Amino acid sequence: MEINKVIEPTPGRGVVIAGPCSAETEGQVMQTAKELAALGQVDLFRSGIWKPRTRPGSFEGVGTEGLAWLKRVKAETGLKTTTEVAKAAHVYDCLKAGIDVLWLGARTTVNPFSVQEVADALKGTDIPVLIKNPINPDLGLWIGAMERIYKAGITRIGLIHRGFSYHGETIYRNVPRWQLAIEMKRRFPEVQMIVDNSHICGRRDLLAEVAQEALNLNYDGLMTEVHPRPDEAWSDAKQQITPAVFGELIENLRLRKPTANEMEMAKLTELRRQIDEVDNDILGMIGRRMRLADAIGEFKAERNLAVLQEDRWDEILRAATQKGKLQGLSAEFMERYLRAIHQESIDHQDAIVNKKMA
Ligand code: PEP
Ligand code: MN
Repeated sequence: MEINKVIEPTPGRGVVIAGPCSAETEGQVMQTAKELAALGQVDLFRSGIWKPRTRPGSFEGVGTEGLAWLKRVKAETGLKTTTEVAKAAHVYDCLKAGIDVLWLGARTTVNPFSVQEVADALKGTDIPVLIKNPINPDLGLWIGAMERIYKAGITRIGLIHRGFSYHGETIYRNVPRWQLAIEMKRRFPEVQMIVDNSHICGRRDLLAEVAQEALNLNYDGLMTEVHPRPDEAWSDAKQQITPAVFGELIENLRLRKPTANEMEMAKLTELRRQIDEVDNDILGMIGRRMRLADAIGEFKAERNLAVLQEDRWDEILRAATQKGKLQGLSAEFMERYLRAIHQESIDHQDAIVNKKMA
């Protein structure tokens, strides 16, 4: 595949895509666009017109009417525009309205029928297309979507990393699994990779950190959801920020240049990131273990059983020391580690039993 850039970034900084999750009203769209344009740093204005909602009854987008608002954005601010398409009809409407770039959402990338329908509608055009990763961590679907769009004759294609759904507890809305996006970058080095920090984070306080992490990994830019009154947004309120806050976010980002030294840096960052992910997983598992200990505490309190049961502890220690050995972990470490975990479990159980007795 010979793929070209979707957007030429201004030298010295990455591609910047920003705008509301959804176009809600003409006023909201125009206000966001004007405030973003005033920052002088935005390459592309995003806004969802048709919203793929997980469950019916949520706001499903204003529909075709909103395309006229995006046209006005371009006419009055000069910002190029992009929106999500999932069906042939969306593509035709966008082409008619002069939208500059299209994107495929995560719920579309998972479905080859939908991707093919969009690809067929794109034949004979040369509009650039951004492709979000599929909801589930399956690189095949991501690559497949890119191939279908490419085969339709589109040569300006970019990727958006928006994280992956995860069954379990995590601080993210969609866990990044950086190594998957890095693998895509490795296989398709010429394809621009944009981080969608909004949908990875699902919350405002992590946005800057995730954006910086992506730049450290030599991503080409970011897509962030921006709303003039985030708390009142009709979709994804928790993750949206004001244009002013977004301005600060991009001011504070440090762009890395991929020189030889920086490549080494990226490699280190990648390994550290993997360590952070593992540490996160370990913490999540310890939390889970403590909640199980709590359940046992409740049960022991109900049945008036002793918190510490010696033979159980001996059994845990013996089994785990052996398993640790297989992982190359010393017996001393295993003992220290288990004692710490076990002590914390006992403290949890004690607290529960004491509360029940009080
Ligand atoms: C969006 O960008 O608003 C959106 C619906 O994202 P995703 O497809 O990544 O869920
Ligand atoms: Mn959104």
